[in-house]
Amino acid sequence: MSASKLLTYSFVKTLPDRTSWLRKLRNRHGFTTRMFVRSMCSSVEPRHVVISGGGMVGTAMACSLGFNPMFEGKSITLLEAAPKKKFELSEMYKNRVSTVNLSTVSLFNSFGAWDKVLQMRCQPVKRMQIWESCSDSFLTFNQPDLSDELAFVVENDVLLEALRTKLEEVSERVEVLYETKATKIELPEPSTDSALKSLVSITLNNGKVLHTNLLIGADGSNSVVRKSCNFPSVKWDYNQAGVVATLSLSEPTENNVAWQRFLPSGPIAILPLSKKESSLVWSTSHEHAKELVSMDADTFVDAVNNALVEVVL
Ligand SMILES: Cc1cc2nc3c(=O)[nH]c(=O)nc-3n(C[C@H](O)[C@H](O)[C@H](O)COP(=O)(O)OP(=O)(O)OC[C@H]3O[C@@H](n4cnc5c(N)ncnc54)[C@H](O)[C@@H]3O)c2cc1C
Repeated sequence: MSASKLLTYSFVKTLPDRTSWLRKLRNRHGFTTRMFVRSMCSSVEPRHVVISGGGMVGTAMACSLGFNPMFEGKSITLLEAAPKKKFELSEMYKNRVSTVNLSTVSLFNSFGAWDKVLQMRCQPVKRMQIWESCSDSFLTFNQPDLSDELAFVVENDVLLEALRTKLEEVSERVEVLYETKATKIELPEPSTDSALKSLVSITLNNGKVLHTNLLIGADGSNSVVRKSCNFPSVKWDYNQAGVVATLSLSEPTENNVAWQRFLPSGPIAILPLSKKESSLVWSTSHEHAKELVSMDADTFVDAVNNALVEVVL
């Protein structure tokens, strides 16, 4: 082993703080090399599971594994690129919402997160009505017992907060690293004698390298995991934009029906949030979307009402 490698190794052992280590190395010897930084920052303690992406999907996965007795004693790390956000349930509803079906409710119930959602807010959907602008035909979805829920409309932030609150209860098993991004993934080498090379290696934005038996990619539509592993994907452009908004209803109603109408330019959906508010998701052409967002409130409301009743062939 060369003198410089030995030098690095002794610094690793005695100077855990990376910045001071680099500064001292520079001051004393006037050099650093990528190799030193890499070996300095490598974590040699492999994780059983690493989940890349702490959105709704990654955090739900972390809860699912964290609360699963079969994962007792396993180390799970959740990487989230964004900083940890402080959650406050604002009076005004957020306009990013999800309609979740009963399978999702049952998943959340399996580790106690649905109660957290109920303690915040969500709105039951008992019927979905889908129709189109060019005919009188329509489809209705409901449970055999009409009073049973079909789905729930929940703000994305509420879902995430419920999951994050539950995750704190298993913090000894699930470590969450905020502002930490996977930047490079190296898959295991098929036939290797090296224990570390038989694991997935994940380089983080802070220079650290994690090793794991199982990497789960939940890092969104531009997934680094998908790209690094060359997973094939298919995508196509609908040439549409989505306009989202929170609508105030003219008068309170039971508001438990999800409406969706197909127009030639795309579907408009109105999803119940409360007795007096609904969420709008309107997929339309880019030009029309630009027009919609630049309208004053009254013109916008007229546009929404027309889109629900106008006959368009
Ligand atoms: C208008 C609209 C309405 C929708 N309505 C519904 C609905 O009603 N029901 C429904 O089920 N779905 C709905 N969807 C889809 C749903 O929102 C998405 O499928 C869902 O948000 C995907 O969640 P995710 O956790 O996989 O990804 P994301 O929400 O994109 O989260 C990815 C996370 O990974 C982090 N990240 C990214 N890169 C890295 C990295 N390299 N390292 C570490 N972290 C990283 C990001 O910071 C982010 O927090 C809707 C989508 C839209 C746009």
